[in-house]
Amino acid sequence: MDAEFWLGRWREGRTHFHQPQVMPLLRKHWPALEVPAGARVLVPLCGKSLDMPWLASQGFQVLGVEISELAVEQFFAEHGLQPATHDSDQGRHYVAGNIELICGDIFKLSAQTLAGCQGVYDRAALIALPSGMRPAYVDHVYGHLPQGCKGLLITLDYPQDEMNGPPFSVPDEEIRALFSRRTSASLLERRDILKEEDKFLRAGVQRLDTAVYKLETGK
Ligand code: SAH
Repeated sequence: MDAEFWLGRWREGRTHFHQPQVMPLLRKHWPALEVPAGARVLVPLCGKSLDMPWLASQGFQVLGVEISELAVEQFFAEHGLQPATHDSDQGRHYVAGNIELICGDIFKLSAQTLAGCQGVYDRAALIALPSGMRPAYVDHVYGHLPQGCKGLLITLDYPQDEMNGPPFSVPDEEIRALFSRRTSASLLERRDILKEEDKFLRAGVQRLDTAVYKLETGK
């Protein structure tokens, strides 16, 4: 699953992962995390998610990272924003108000940038990556977030042999293994969403759950 795969998805408009509304599980679970007011919140593999303006509306400084330039440009155009841009080793930065998107590879995000984020929101990010990439992703991103950083992780869990990802199934055991070392992941909610997901129903998937975890580094 290389960059070209995702760039192609955006070019062809095959972006069914994009939701036309703010994720209800974000609204429901974010407030209880008590992420400090005004904190910088990392949104890895952000696409053009409407969850970013929602986080910004709650007073956070949003930092999204997305490899597709098309996604980044659509995000600002669709919100009528004209971002200021500059380049760094991490990619091209687009800044408008309290939203900054870096168009670049998440693996190029610097340890220093990660260390400046006190919140994180991982929806359709970890589960967008094939199993071989997930340990490196977790080590890189969660290994550099500062102690006490809190956030939400939203996953899917379904029989992987009944459908191919992305989005991939990342069951509870794998979450526990991935996050055991430095970051705690505690399950907040698990819901059966099979009836709401046409794509999975059409593929003949028999079981589909979404799970929400509270993440906390240094625990
Ligand atoms: N979180 C978003 C998008 C999920 S789809 C949402 O909820 O809508 C995964 C996104 O990650 C795609 O937009 C893809 O272009 C981007 N992506 C994939 N690999 C990436 C990488 N290595 N670095 C940054 N972005 C990446």
